[in-house]
Amino acid sequence: MSLIGRHGVLLVSRLERTQGVIATILKQDEQLILSRVVADGSAALACVFRDRPDLILIDMDLPDLMGLSALQLIMDHSPIPVIILSTLTSEGSAQTIQAMRFGAVDYFHKEMLVSGLEGEGVVTYFLERCKLAVQNGVKGVYPATTHPDGYMDSLQPGAPLINGALLQRRMDIEMHLRHAITKKEFNLVYQPVVDISTSCVVGMECLLRWDNVDVGFVPPSEFISIAEESGLIHEIGEWVLREACRQNRKWQLAGLPPMFVAVNLSRKQFNDCRLSGIIAAILQETGLEPNYLEIEITESLSVDARLAADTLGKLKELGLRIAMDDFGTGYSSLGYLRDLPVDKIKIDQSFIKGLQHGQVNAIIVSTMLAMANQLNLSVVAEGVETEEELQVLREYGCRFVQGYYFSKPVEVRHIEEMLYQLA
Ligand code: C2E
Ligand code: CA
Ligand code: CA
Repeated sequence: MSLIGRHGVLLVSRLERTQGVIATILKQDEQLILSRVVADGSAALACVFRDRPDLILIDMDLPDLMGLSALQLIMDHSPIPVIILSTLTSEGSAQTIQAMRFGAVDYFHKEMLVSGLEGEGVVTYFLERCKLAVQNGVKGVYPATTHPDGYMDSLQPGAPLINGALLQRRMDIEMHLRHAITKKEFNLVYQPVVDISTSCVVGMECLLRWDNVDVGFVPPSEFISIAEESGLIHEIGEWVLREACRQNRKWQLAGLPPMFVAVNLSRKQFNDCRLSGIIAAILQETGLEPNYLEIEITESLSVDARLAADTLGKLKELGLRIAMDDFGTGYSSLGYLRDLPVDKIKIDQSFIKGLQHGQVNAIIVSTMLAMANQLNLSVVAEGVETEEELQVLREYGCRFVQGYYFSKPVEVRHIEEMLYQLA
């Protein structure tokens, strides 16, 4: 039933509440049309053959595990992308895990959708995920390998060894992440960037920390990707920007030597057309001068260099600086330097680890420094841990460094003390 860009959606549910919520949400989109609502698997299958829907939503709140059997029936006869609507209970989670094993491409908690009707974010995200499911078909909506331990891999439909515990953890993280801002569970720590010619701290990179009573301490490498996938990154990223600017202004007002604060920007934030407006408002609200804010981007931020150049142009107009993070690890580093208005490169830690003269890494680092010098870019070496690494960097003329050698990321309450120690 794909009629000129429209996608038919079949809902399998017996609950009026679910039917109402889904109907209301789908009405907000022009492309997704709720074509039919049925109560069980065999009616769903008949519909699949008759109406050819592009997407099926199955409510797991059907009696006797009928949701799972409806899913199996569809997968066995006519595979179509299926999204599971589950509840945030242990039974609901177990069923979701089973359903992903059986080939569902995505899941949503109904509690989230109901609460989402009050705000915009969740509904937009749900609609986006539905379209992504239609677009990607049964191959699924999760990127193949987004996590170092490969647990995204296991979310791929049909993967026989899906790791239920990991999926459960992902769901728990997503659920608690939703309330992390209101519950004040986030915290920023700051890692100094040191000028080795003067031993002065010239800036601070802020790094996000999240501690939750139920899921415990979760490292950013784990929760940032979940925040991105669930659309929560916009809210979280804005909180980080505001908090970092506010804190930097506070240090200035307390009489500390002025330094820049560097904020990591994630891909979704970067591709949000409201970004420069949000940053301008935050600068105004906190009273921080734009030259004390630096934005760190990575090479994977945007596939479209022209779009990225546009966005960065707007940020530069505001007066802030742009740093290319993890430099050297992407595949198009040099093209990015050519096409984008970057002020600084941060040499990735992998080039610094165990740095010694004569090594391939040493040749790469000295070449990066020479190139940056010619291009008038400033350079920070990241992940400096030892005196030896620092010595080699010094000899190559690298002026700015960051790493455990000087300091681990520290909490605000220890910053002043740390600044006096380093001085
Ligand atoms: P990154 O931007 O490359 O941040 C540097 C990471 O290296 C930090 O890990 C830092 O603690 C660690 N590090 C710094 N010096 C050393 C060192 O000498 N040795 C070693 N082994 N590690 C060092 P962290 O805090 O776990 O952050 C990991 C990544 O998470 C960051 O990588 C960044 O990409 C992301 N991240 C952190 N906070 C935010 C945030 O607020 N927003 C976004 N979008 N991403 C964030
Ligand atoms: Ca960074
Ligand atoms: Ca980095």
